[in-house]
Amino acid sequence: DAQLLLAHTLSRPRSWVIAHGDAALPADDRLTSLLRRRAAGEPLAYLVGKREFHGRALEVGPAVLVPRPDTETLVGWAVELIAQRDRPRVIDLGTGSGAIALALKAAAPAAQVHATDRSEAALAVAAANGRRLGLAVSWHLGDWWRALADDAPGFDVAVSNPPYIAAGDPHLAALRFEPHEALVPQGDAGDGLADLERVIAGSLERLLPGGWLLLEHGFEQAGAVRERLQARGFAGVSTRVDLSGQ
Ligand code: SAM
Ligand code: GLN
Repeated sequence: DAQLLLAHTLSRPRSWVIAHGDAALPADDRLTSLLRRRAAGEPLAYLVGKREFHGRALEVGPAVLVPRPDTETLVGWAVELIAQRDRPRVIDLGTGSGAIALALKAAAPAAQVHATDRSEAALAVAAANGRRLGLAVSWHLGDWWRALADDAPGFDVAVSNPPYIAAGDPHLAALRFEPHEALVPQGDAGDGLADLERVIAGSLERLLPGGWLLLEHGFEQAGAVRERLQARGFAGVSTRVDLSGQ
C-alpha cells in the first residue's frame, strides 16, 4: 500500500517507484498524510480515487462502495447468461460506482444495460465512469425497481449486489469508511435480508419469461436466499462460490 501511495503522490506508475529505489522522496507532506489515513483504516481506493474492477479502472470516492473482487463472480455468471441472447435487456440494481453495469456493457456491447441507485451521489460517480470509459448505460435514480417507469420493458437478466450486512454485524467495524446505506439494509429485521427480499419481490413483474435474477449475498445467507427465491416460484435456483471460497 505504501508503494502505491508513493506512486500516487509522485504521479508515476508503481513500476517507476520499484525501478527508482534511489530517487529522493517528495518534500511535501502529502505522502505522510495519505499514509496516516491508510493506517487509520481508510480504503486505499478512496485515497488514490480509483479501483480496478473486472479489468477496468473505475473512479471511486466515499459516496460509493469500493467494488470487491468477490463481485466479479456475479459478473462472470451474468456474462454467461447474456452471451446466450441476442440483444439482451440487462439491469444492475444498486449500481454504486457502476462496477457491475459497466463490466456487463463492456463484455456485451449489444446488451441494453440499465442501472439504478437510490443515492444521487453514487449515481453521479457511476455516470461519470460510464462517460470516461465510453460505455453507454441508462442510469436511473430511485428505490430498487421503482426507479424504472411502470411501463418499462422487462429484463432478460437482472443483477444486484444490495446491502446485506445486518446492523449489529461485527464486520461493520472494518467498513466504517464506506456509506452505511451501501452496506446495511434499511428497516432490516436483523438478518441483513431486507433488501435482497425487496429486489426478489420486485423482480417478479419485471423479468421477461425465462429471465434470470442473480444476487450477491452474505457468506451465511445462501440457504435463506434460495428459500426466498423458491417461495416466489423461481426455477433453477442455485448458489455459486466466489473466488475466495465464500
Ligand atoms: N453494485 C456496486 C458494487 O457491487 O460494487 C455497489 C453495491 S453496494 C453493496 C449497494 C448499493 O445499493 C449502494 O450503491 C446503495 O446506494 C444502493 N442502494 C441501497 N439501498 C437502495 C435502494 N433502496 N434502492 C436502490 N439502491 C439502493
Ligand atoms: N461484500 C462486502 C463486504 O463484506 C459487503 C457488500 C454488501 O453489503 N453488498 O465488505
